[in-house]
Amino acid sequence: MRLLAATRNQHKLGELRAILGAGFEVIGLDALPGAGDVVEDEPTFVGNAAKKAVWAAQLADSRALTMADDSGLEVDALGGAPGVMSARYAQEAGGPRPTDLQNNAKLLRALAGVPAEKRTARFQCVIAITGLATLAAAAKRAGVPCEARGHWTVAWCAGTCEGRILFEPRGADGFGYDPLFVPAGQVLTFAELDEGVKNAISHRACAMGRARTLLDAMARGG
Ligand code: IMP
Repeated sequence: MRLLAATRNQHKLGELRAILGAGFEVIGLDALPGAGDVVEDEPTFVGNAAKKAVWAAQLADSRALTMADDSGLEVDALGGAPGVMSARYAQEAGGPRPTDLQNNAKLLRALAGVPAEKRTARFQCVIAITGLATLAAAAKRAGVPCEARGHWTVAWCAGTCEGRILFEPRGADGFGYDPLFVPAGQVLTFAELDEGVKNAISHRACAMGRARTLLDAMARGG
């Protein structure tokens, strides 16, 4: 089965191919020359992932399934911020996209004075999959929520990883907010943990597990 992933990130494409195996031919946005980019301006992860998936499906104008993701960090003491703004949290109006260091520094400033027990947070990931009518039946079989958007069906698979925010960064691996985030049940940050451990418990792994169930249901049910 052919799957268009709405990303140019070769790391994400490789991860997807490894998880889905030989039954799926995964292609990225690089296969669509001149595709441009979509503006991620929806207020929710589901909204952004669905917008991106429908945009890519329309670009490809094919019967291939299309997949897109959106993710970010929600901090309880900040009312869920940075949320969908995670990548641009420290951005000044009209300024360049901030670095991970700048985003992490802003998060620590925002949490100054907040005690350890109130620094609870979670990473969220939503993977949206767009297809035609047969996707709705497969989503029902797989227990995955879906809705119609124009003549497209959009199903979404959510994954969450609970944890807490430290008082200072620790660890050199990973990206984004990894050095500040300790997942529940662990003592090391995402930037200190072995990559295999992170990939087993992360919000992305959890959403991918659900997406895999849905795609298997598609492959079985046609
Ligand atoms: P996007 O889903 O690629 O738009 O990512 C949104 C932003 O959320 C990233 O730029 C990171 O700041 C943050 N983020 C998402 N997933 C992770 C993660 O696994 N570790 C650290 N930061 C993450």
